[in-house]
Amino acid sequence: MQIKELLKQSPSEQEVTVKGWVRTKRGQAAVTFIAINDGSTIHNIQAVAEGGAIDEETLKLVSTGACVAVTGKLIASMGSGQAVEVKAEKIVVYGTADETFPMQPKKHSMEFLREKAHLRFRTNTFGAIFRIRHALAYAVHKYYNDNGFFYLHTPIITASDAEGAGEMFHVTNFDMEKPPRAEDGSIDYSQDFFGRQTSLTVSGQLEGELGALALSKIYTFGPTFRAENSNTTRHLAEFWMIEPEVAFYELEDNMALAEDFVQYVIKYALENCAEDLAFLEKRLLEEEKSKPQNERSELSLLEKLKFVVDNKFERLTYTEAIEILLRSKPHKEKKFQYPVEWGIDLQSEHERYLVEKHFKKPVILTNYPKDIKAFYMKQDADGKTVRAMDVLFPGIGEIIGGSQREDDYEKLLARTKEVGIDPENIWWYLETRKFGSAPHSGFGLGFERLVLFVTGMTNIRDVIPFPRTPKSAEF
Ligand code: ATP
Ligand code: MN
Repeated sequence: MQIKELLKQSPSEQEVTVKGWVRTKRGQAAVTFIAINDGSTIHNIQAVAEGGAIDEETLKLVSTGACVAVTGKLIASMGSGQAVEVKAEKIVVYGTADETFPMQPKKHSMEFLREKAHLRFRTNTFGAIFRIRHALAYAVHKYYNDNGFFYLHTPIITASDAEGAGEMFHVTNFDMEKPPRAEDGSIDYSQDFFGRQTSLTVSGQLEGELGALALSKIYTFGPTFRAENSNTTRHLAEFWMIEPEVAFYELEDNMALAEDFVQYVIKYALENCAEDLAFLEKRLLEEEKSKPQNERSELSLLEKLKFVVDNKFERLTYTEAIEILLRSKPHKEKKFQYPVEWGIDLQSEHERYLVEKHFKKPVILTNYPKDIKAFYMKQDADGKTVRAMDVLFPGIGEIIGGSQREDDYEKLLARTKEVGIDPENIWWYLETRKFGSAPHSGFGLGFERLVLFVTGMTNIRDVIPFPRTPKSAEF
């Protein structure tokens, strides 16, 4: 039985076997206390070996990190902090761990734990994070399933670049030492595996739209790849993205969906991961003690999550946001590193000012200048802005990017050419605007940014099991 279930049993001396990894062993003259964890819960179960019950040799092998099976009676615990414990009668040691086992019960830095990503699952912090990550992934599927969406698997290898920007990892089976060359010396991709140049996808959106223009409501949830060299605490080279796409939705419906969806999954975590969240909240409080008062968060982790679930997100246009920034204290006192004027791509410092200082809640910014957004976004009547929306979260910045899509064939074709994309490359995308085009909208939520927010962690590398970042792909 898993420890999570065992801890709920009432103790009536029934015989049980606990299998898991030893977190700590405390010995006294006649009794040994062994804390065992199997990852099913943040809580350990205590096994008690009374003098003579287990032979010396075996007991010696039971040390922090060892994997054991303990059989004995489930009894009421004398100690505080747990209702039941196992009175050990037999211990089988599956695998020993000597004192070089890195996850000894003491404080480790996050950097150290990242270098030991193969073993960091065995800490309380990472156990909690990955149980919450699972719960959030499940909640995502549940939300869309319960709301009539179909899970669409879009390709990972693609010949199109959805964002019209570089930053893609190439996929080839050429011998890199001597790729076939055309007469002019350039690499001849017609001889490559797919007969053309291909890459790992940066987004499933374009294909998602094709599905939505028949199935009406679809979502994708898959890996995406960006070869961007941004070594930040919010960017990964490989991350998971959730992208709903809905026919007949306009920008307002899209915003309502984004808000309802994010609130639902956070609420799901609050209701289903209470113990892990309580642990992470305590951890965060400890961590913040070392910070000066003015840098500590005003809300605890749980307060922050409840706040987001209970309050409507602030909605305003990009143009209104620029006006607020121009009137702001940091702008007047020249405290922003990047200048503010209509037309700029908002920097993280600007987004954080709006969310954390001005509104103090999640913000949805809409109607951005068309020149800083992707070619497929629907143009506004003013000819200057597009029906884009970014959802900004405290501490995270952008968590969602989306838009209403251009559904007018001529306008989309013109914009495609304007930004330098060859219409031939996305003929299939353009064709959906020729045959039964419909208003439609969608967005992308970076799954790790969501996990980051919910767990209160500060570095995105700590919420994905094995992070891929510039110069790092160990494990
Ligand atoms: P940013 O400005 O933060 O780089 P973006 O504008 O490039 O984001 P989009 O292309 O709109 O982001 O992608 C949709 C979502 O995917 C973002 O809102 C964010 O949550 C997430 N995301 C984007 N890039 C990354 C990345 N490198 N690592 C993790 N998540 C990402
Ligand atoms: Mn980006």
